[in-house]
Amino acid sequence: MSQAVRKKSPGAKNPAPAAIPLTRPDLEGNESRYVQEAITSSWISSAGPFHERFEKEFAQECGTRHALAVSNGTTALHLALITLGVAPGDEIILPSLCYIAVANAVRYVQATPVFVDIDESHWCLSPSAVARAITSRTKGIIAVHNYGHPADMDPLNAIARQNRLWVVEDAAEAIFARYRGRPTGSLATMGTFSFYGNKVITSGEGGALTFNSDLFNRRAKLFRGQGMDPDRRYFFPVIGHNFRLTNLQSAILCAQLERKDEILKRRRRVYAHYQSLLGQIPGIGTQPVADWATLSPWLYSVTLDPQAFGGTRDEIGQRLLANNIETRPFFLPIPTLPPYHQQASFPVAERIAATGLNLPTSSQMTEAEVEKVARTLIGLKR
Ligand SMILES: *Cc1c(COP(=O)(O)O)cnc(C)c1O
Repeated sequence: MSQAVRKKSPGAKNPAPAAIPLTRPDLEGNESRYVQEAITSSWISSAGPFHERFEKEFAQECGTRHALAVSNGTTALHLALITLGVAPGDEIILPSLCYIAVANAVRYVQATPVFVDIDESHWCLSPSAVARAITSRTKGIIAVHNYGHPADMDPLNAIARQNRLWVVEDAAEAIFARYRGRPTGSLATMGTFSFYGNKVITSGEGGALTFNSDLFNRRAKLFRGQGMDPDRRYFFPVIGHNFRLTNLQSAILCAQLERKDEILKRRRRVYAHYQSLLGQIPGIGTQPVADWATLSPWLYSVTLDPQAFGGTRDEIGQRLLANNIETRPFFLPIPTLPPYHQQASFPVAERIAATGLNLPTSSQMTEAEVEKVARTLIGLKR
C-alpha cells in the first residue's frame, strides 16, 4: 500500500519488502468518497469546490489571510521566490542540512544559496550563523523546520527586520507544528508546504503557499497560472508557470484536514512511545525539543554512536532492514553534493548527517510495532 511512497534506502539494491515501512499515508477518512465526488461532478482539473474549500480551510489552519494550493512543495518554494521578486545574484541564506529542494529553488531563480550551519539544540537554522552570513547582497532567509521541529523564528525575524530581508519558512516537514503557540505557515513573510505521500497530510503530490499580503496573493496567482492577466483573458504580461494543484488532489486534502487532529494525536502517541523507549539509551541521541516548540511528529529521528553499535549508521540501517524494519539515513549536508560543492565546513550539520537515522513513523503504527523497532535497535548495540 505504501509502494508509491517508500523510497529505497541507498546501498540496498533490492530491499526486501519491509514489514514495518518508513511511512504510510493515512487515508482512512473521506478521501475515496471525495475523489469519487470530484470525478462525478467532472471538476477534475485545477478549479472546483474542493480546491476552493482546501485553500480557505488551510489558510484558517495556518492563521493567514491567504493559502494557495500548488502542485508540490518544490513549486511552492519556487513560487515563493518568484513572488518575492528574487533576482539573479541575490544571496539567500539557508541551512546546510535540509531537503535538497530548498537549494534547488534558489538556483531556479538564479540566486546564490549561502549555506549556514544548524543549531545543536534543535537541528534547525542557527540564528547566530545567519547573522554572520549577511552581506550587502543578502535578500532573504529560508528557515526550514527540520523533521517536524520548528526553527527559532523570533531571532530570525529580528535579524531580518534589522537587515530589511524577507523570511520564508519551509514547513513541509512541520505541518501543524507550533512556535510559541503560533502555527507554522504564519511565522514569516511566507510559508511553504509539501503534501507528498510521506508528509503528515498528503495528496500524493501537492503543496501550498501561505501569507497575509494581498499583493503577494495577486502576484503568486499570476505566476502560478501561466502568467495570465486575471482581468484580460489570454493576455500574458509575464512569463508564468503551471504550478497548479487539481481539484482531485484538493479533494484528498479536504478529507485529510477533517482528520487532522486524529492524525496528529496518533503520531504524537507514536513519538512519545519512541521517546520513552529510546530517550535515555547511551549511544542513541534524539532530536532535542526546544521549549518554544510544539512538534508535528514527522519522522522520529535518532543519532547513533558508531562506537556503541560497533558499526556505522548505514550498517545499522542494513541490520534493521534484515529485521524487516525500513529506515532512512539523514539528508547529506547540501554543500557536500556535486551541484553545491564547497570546501567550507559545517560541523554540526556534518556530525548529525553522518550519524542520523529516521525511524518508521506513521499514524497507523501500533504499539507493538514501535516496540519492535526500539527493541531491535537497542539489541544491535554491542
Ligand atoms: C518534502 C520537502 C520538500 C519538497 O516537497 P515536494 O512536494 O516533494 O516537492 C521541500 N522542502 C522540505 C523541507 C521537504 O521536506
